[in-house]
Amino acid sequence: MPELAEVELARRQWAAFHGEKIISIDTQPKARIYRDCPAPALRILDGKKLVGSKAHGKRMLFSFAPALHLEVHLGMSGKLSVDASDHSVAKHDHLILRTKKAALIFNDYRMFGRIMLHDLSDPWTHLPPQPQDSKFSVAYLRKKLERHPKKPLKGLLLDQAICPGIGNWMADEICWKLGLHPAIHSAELDATSLRKAIRFVTLGALKHVADRNETASTTGFAPGSYVANVPPKNWLFQHRWKKGGNCPACKVELSRDTIASRTTAWCPKCQK
Ligand SMILES: [Zn+2]
Repeated sequence: MPELAEVELARRQWAAFHGEKIISIDTQPKARIYRDCPAPALRILDGKKLVGSKAHGKRMLFSFAPALHLEVHLGMSGKLSVDASDHSVAKHDHLILRTKKAALIFNDYRMFGRIMLHDLSDPWTHLPPQPQDSKFSVAYLRKKLERHPKKPLKGLLLDQAICPGIGNWMADEICWKLGLHPAIHSAELDATSLRKAIRFVTLGALKHVADRNETASTTGFAPGSYVANVPPKNWLFQHRWKKGGNCPACKVELSRDTIASRTTAWCPKCQK
């Protein structure tokens, strides 16, 4: 599932066409991605110029006018890509916004993704701070730890109302970086070192996944295939996928179990 760095990379695919006017729109009206917003409503974007975009956690917002925005969630398998403007509709291309220069494509074979239209000037005023924002402070985290003392570390990291944009691989990476078992209770955590590890992994993921792949092709999410460049070998990332992976620090075989309802990998030696 795309996490904040993959989402940022996806946003940049379409953002390359800021300033372009939409000249036609293709939709697959029966696709589940239209469960919040019927496909015909998207006709309002016809003739409008894409003026800007931003990402927040696992969601993206593409702006067409001061109070007209298209929100996109990639879900499990959603992908944003671009192609020549005469791109012919491929299987699972549920939305195509065409400009003179390019086709902006939302393809999603499992259809957990979704889109929404907003006619507010800022539809995102209610969202919590992202880990990479300055408002994601030690005080903010301390308050969350106090409010959820029994929550396991992994569950805290995956809670989108607390750490928006962090998903399974980043959460495992943060626990490993902290040297803490993913099931440890929040009450035992130190907000300062937690914030430091979250920021290290978040900012590192943005650099390794979003910055280093901006001009590379994206083909699907798995190490080395969603993106040409992935986090380095001294991160847990490259070792946690397949059974039998070893800790990049101490070489001990990684443990695996379900924690906070997700498959979790950790080092039994480094993460007590
Ligand atoms: Zn280890």
